[in-house]
Amino acid sequence: MSFIKFVRRLLGIKQNKKMINLVLFGPPGSGKGTQAKKLVEKFGLTHISTGDLFRYELGNNTPLGQEAKKYMDKGELVPDTVTVAMLENKMNMTPNEKGYILDGFPRTIAQCEALDKFLSSRSTAVTHLLALDVDDEEIVKRLLERGKTSGRADDANEEVIRKRITEYNAKTSPVYNYYEKQDISKKVNGIGSIDEIFGRLSSELA
Ligand code: AMP
Repeated sequence: MSFIKFVRRLLGIKQNKKMINLVLFGPPGSGKGTQAKKLVEKFGLTHISTGDLFRYELGNNTPLGQEAKKYMDKGELVPDTVTVAMLENKMNMTPNEKGYILDGFPRTIAQCEALDKFLSSRSTAVTHLLALDVDDEEIVKRLLERGKTSGRADDANEEVIRKRITEYNAKTSPVYNYYEKQDISKKVNGIGSIDEIFGRLSSELA
């Protein structure tokens, strides 16, 4: 066991040890949403997708939705302050002592730092980061396919898809290393049947 893991275990005495706070990680189209729904059922966690929250605001044409739309339409990330405030608000409204699956958040190092601070104020922490490993060309293929039925403008346009992948590689992939320093990041093969991938993720949480 690494020193960091040892210290986290010690701190776990203070924390709710059974709580799972999973960052379900991976590029757009890697299957996070699909797997999150299955993991929620198995582990009794609360699923929070910042993309879904933004789409909800957008659908209701709220000021937050209008602000987010400017970025989402271009495949860019919504500014951290806006995103973090929305996430914290949602977590405050949905208490769950078993824990959370965060899907599409954190996506920048600033979001990681804000999340750690927020969870620490609640005497808890991120317990796992599981990264679905899928290559870029497979992602483009899957998203264009999803775009035929998802009703999402950002899935239907290859240029926007490629911008989302560029944003992911530039700003989001460092999140993996951030949590690797806490010894909780792990790659999971994201290619295979839904049930195969679900089995791989579940065994990391059991
Ligand atoms: P997703 O459904 O996770 O692919 O998110 C769709 C879009 O919502 C992204 O391309 C971003 O514009 C925005 N978004 C979702 N989550 C975040 C986040 N954590 N930080 C910044 N922008 C986000």
